[in-house]
Amino acid sequence: MNTIDVPANRTPAPVSQLLAPRSVAVIGASEDQTKFGGRLYRMLIKHGYQGAIYPINPGRKSLFGIDTFPSVSATPEAPDMVVMALPRDKVKGEIEAAAKRGARCGIIITAKFSDAGPEGAALEAEIVGIARAHGMRLIGPNCLGVISPANRVVLCSSPALEVDSLPVGPLGFVSQSGALMATIFDRALDMGVGFSHCVSVGNQADLELCDFVEYLIEDPRTQVICTYIEGIKDPQRFVALARRAREAGKPWLAVKAGRTEAGSRAAFSHTASIAGTHAVLAAVCRDENVTLLDDTGTMITLAAAIARHPAARVERVAVLTTSGGGGALAADALTSRGLEMARFAPATQQAIDRYYSPGQGQNPVDFGGRRFDDAADVSKATAEIVAADPNTDALLYSITTAPMMVKLAEELAAGMLDEQGRLRKPALWVMQPGRAADGARQALRERGIAFTNHTGEAIDALVAWQARSRFVARSEAARPTACGPAVPAAGQYDEAASKAVLAGYGVPVNESRIAGSADEAVAAARELGYPVVMKIVSADIVHKSDVGGVAVGVADDADAAATFDRVLAAAKAAVPGARIDGVSVQTMASGKLELIVGARRDAQFGPIVVVGAGGVLVELLSDRAIARAPIAHDDARRLLESLSVWPVLSGYRGRPLAVDAVVDAIVRASWLAQDLGDGDFELDLNPLIVDETRCVAVDARLRVGDAGEVSEPAGH
Ligand code: ADP
Ligand code: MG
Repeated sequence: MNTIDVPANRTPAPVSQLLAPRSVAVIGASEDQTKFGGRLYRMLIKHGYQGAIYPINPGRKSLFGIDTFPSVSATPEAPDMVVMALPRDKVKGEIEAAAKRGARCGIIITAKFSDAGPEGAALEAEIVGIARAHGMRLIGPNCLGVISPANRVVLCSSPALEVDSLPVGPLGFVSQSGALMATIFDRALDMGVGFSHCVSVGNQADLELCDFVEYLIEDPRTQVICTYIEGIKDPQRFVALARRAREAGKPWLAVKAGRTEAGSRAAFSHTASIAGTHAVLAAVCRDENVTLLDDTGTMITLAAAIARHPAARVERVAVLTTSGGGGALAADALTSRGLEMARFAPATQQAIDRYYSPGQGQNPVDFGGRRFDDAADVSKATAEIVAADPNTDALLYSITTAPMMVKLAEELAAGMLDEQGRLRKPALWVMQPGRAADGARQALRERGIAFTNHTGEAIDALVAWQARSRFVARSEAARPTACGPAVPAAGQYDEAASKAVLAGYGVPVNESRIAGSADEAVAAARELGYPVVMKIVSADIVHKSDVGGVAVGVADDADAAATFDRVLAAAKAAVPGARIDGVSVQTMASGKLELIVGARRDAQFGPIVVVGAGGVLVELLSDRAIARAPIAHDDARRLLESLSVWPVLSGYRGRPLAVDAVVDAIVRASWLAQDLGDGDFELDLNPLIVDETRCVAVDARLRVGDAGEVSEPAGH
């Protein structure tokens, strides 16, 4: 028997080789289709694997006519790939045997490792250690394996594979969920879309999502990268790969779970709860042009279409439909989501009008409005003409039930495809009917035209495509003059101290004095000039106005003296025993808009800045935009432009507000965030009051250091 131990520390093979193994050992292979090992083994054979298959089963001589081996140490050569779905307590031994035998990669389907607590995690780490010591890579555990139509390698047991053949297509897919991989694979087959490779990475104990994304970027058979993500292991690598995918001209689409996981830390800060992890990832994806989608069906719909035209710009859409209703609904959906209905060029319109009754050939074009009997002829000609229209970026086919649907689909396809079988223009097909359209669906599949059955998916895909084509890469940020660096020491900073830090970064703040008595309050107010604002100063009171601790428009001496007493009394009543450091008397800002500028350190992506509609209703409004610090001026402006309150800033009903000043304040706050970004911190600047000529921060809070750390409020 060949039992030569492979020396430890071999160089691991690249993913390209792992996904194209020359031989596969199936541990626990059987003919029993109720068993995982039985199904997987059959799928491998059924889908025409070209390499050597080594079924491992000590109890059988052969399985489906292939000689078995009692163990992986008994195979005639070291298998490139070893796949197993064994009970958990058997996995370590088998991986060890395979690693020693010289296997290059192992797929562990078995679950209950790091996905099931510390004990499983420890075992998983041990297994990874054994594999790595021998230069063997691992996929999983807790995964569903690999489906690689491009390599004819099927190492997966899913019923989705119960088909005669696996179409090879331009989509690569890496999934953290095994079941979702198989489900999407199955659905994609229905939609007429094929894959190059699908990998389910499971717990990512060794090989992780990015390892496969990296491979798909390089793989010439993959045009679009689809991912289902639950958590990102290496954020820096994620960003670097997104750049490489862009450079390679390969769209990267992602569905990420956890969108609603509320970032509700029990912290003082608004920022903590309004910039949850998902929102940060969404911002990173926006900045790196990774298209983040809510739904896997939309992802496949977009992927199939964009694979044909990866660099297309999509703004103006022509709708072609078999019914007025279908066209009207599609037009509603498109325009309400920010896409434009294409206005055909005169030559296009003239050409279309030859086939349609007056007024019927406009966008949306309804084949029902044709002048001739033969719908099929008209549809082919219409498709050709519209595809050639210079004012149309993309076509949306909204197909409802119609006579002779198969012929219609064939003719439409003929009009859309050029002599080389290429789609003339970006196009999305929606096949709305039920079974009535099955023949038409099959006709499309045979012609390599992908479709969805759901209008919503097509619209969402177009919206995402438009966003992709509007992508602007982030600018290099440069530190403005008089903007720190002056990294504040750890501690909890009150309003005045926080403002002092901000002022050191050149963020405009208003002037204030602390008064310990009514007389001092009056003196301070005179000095600053009426009207003033008076606020309670207490380390124990985070939201001052909630306790009656803020008085604006204090008009004169009598008012100031009375307000001093009132604010103190209100605070003491609301928070009995609160430590009170006095009352802040400050200049009153007048403005047209209140914004929030917040910052904190994201555990994955480092210092981030949040900009949004501010004031005391900040959570309610939930109008915000996020970006990683530091931020360049043009990027800060784009953040503002993405807010719902942007029209107010840009002069809706009145003069524009001081946008440049706000942009500058954001940039400066982002540099403070950058300087603090190595450690934990939270900054809230709320509100930043904006008028036509300037902006000023009238409230601020800064914490530097661990949330748990108790530190004295900084002095004034
Ligand atoms: P908190 O957020 O702790 O409740 P703020 O200091 O933000 O207290 O005050 C609450 C609101 O009062 C602000 O959103 C703003 O509308 C108003 N306000 C506070 N300070 C000033 C000021 N100096 N000038 C004008 N308005 C102010
Ligand atoms: Mg405030």
